[in-house]
Amino acid sequence: MVKAICGTLPKPRYAQFCHFREADDTIIDSGIALYFPGPASFTGEDVVELQGHGSPLVMDRLCQRAIELGARMARPGEFSERAFLNNKMDLAQAEAVADLIESSTEQAARSAMRSLQGDFSNRINAFLEELTHLRMYVEASIDFADEEIDFLAEAQVDKQLQDLLTTLDGIAGSARQGRLLREGISVVLAGQPNAGKSSLHNQLAGHDAAIVTDVAGTTRDVLREQIHLDGLPLRISDTAGLHEATSDIVELEGIRRTQNELAQADHILLIIDDSLGMTPQDNKILNDMPADKPLTVIRNKIDRSGHQIGETVEAGRQTIFLSAKTGEGMELLRQHLFEAVGYHPEEEGVFIARRRHLDALSRARLAISHGYDCLAGLGAGELLAEELRQAQNALGEITGTFTTEDLLDHIFSSFCIGK
Ligand code: GDP
Repeated sequence: MVKAICGTLPKPRYAQFCHFREADDTIIDSGIALYFPGPASFTGEDVVELQGHGSPLVMDRLCQRAIELGARMARPGEFSERAFLNNKMDLAQAEAVADLIESSTEQAARSAMRSLQGDFSNRINAFLEELTHLRMYVEASIDFADEEIDFLAEAQVDKQLQDLLTTLDGIAGSARQGRLLREGISVVLAGQPNAGKSSLHNQLAGHDAAIVTDVAGTTRDVLREQIHLDGLPLRISDTAGLHEATSDIVELEGIRRTQNELAQADHILLIIDDSLGMTPQDNKILNDMPADKPLTVIRNKIDRSGHQIGETVEAGRQTIFLSAKTGEGMELLRQHLFEAVGYHPEEEGVFIARRRHLDALSRARLAISHGYDCLAGLGAGELLAEELRQAQNALGEITGTFTTEDLLDHIFSSFCIGK
């Protein structure tokens, strides 16, 4: 096929200039062909790359020509999937390919690169090695039923289990940071019209994204924007004011959207005009907020009310005093948000991670700590060995040594085409 299009099979790993031709020899385009024979290629299979001039029409014709000769379009993620299936990379690394492409902040890109280079997998593999070693010891001692307990005590298996838990917590901590970098958080700004939601939005974003006016109820629709705070992707939604008893259809729709947005929020900032104080209207809005969401009350306009910048707890609510107009107190709000979601911008060596990785880590943790209880409470080495096996399987899901076809389909189908 390559010879039919390029007229020749290029020398391995050399950029070969050639004309890409139709069946009747007319030239479709001219460009560069690169040949990577397997197994020293990205997928581990023979790969040829054709680089043309990039016009969609010409590219389309070139693809059609390849298809006429027996090729087919790749499925989303198929290149990475093949690389995984051919042991060129493990599952966490393959996922990092997609995360690197999609990363929205520099920190996220750097973390994805770390995962791609194997930082995450290496930590998991090193942990698995220790775990397997311990499991083999425990299993071996079961065979000496009479002396089992002595064997386990002598090797300080309980201490080893505690050490494993500490190591696992360290990995999970990094993974949580990696997930925050990958997925970010969504913050909803709520409050009465004119409380200062748009102004706060602009302060956070650092520009005039929302329209700030003196007319109550200007922000009718939900205004969404993605910004970064120290590498943390933040989706801010600036919602319509929650008016009471409005009959205006547009405002009613705005309120409905606000409720939707609140339901999906990771954190709610309820803005209150501090120069007016907490009004019955504000209290009503506060009571209408979803009870299960972290919420911070923002006492805005301190430049007018005369209050100091500060953070306190009022009526059981985290409260921050600031001015969205002058910017006083914004740094405090940033720190507060980081703390609320557990983001540590200064943490080094973070690797990118996904929810499924965190799930696997917490299942492994649960199994090991169950195992510890079995040993400490019942002296049951057999049960401990079984729990350690469960932990091993859970961690194997991260690197892909232990996976189902459904999981692979799910992971690779979310990739972009051609990756
Ligand atoms: P929204 O309706 O809640 O989005 O409120 P806006 O952000 O549009 O603000 C309403 C009015 O309050 C505008 O005139 C803002 O300039 C003003 N405002 C907002 N924040 C502050 C603040 O911290 N201090 C003062 N003095 N005015 C503010």
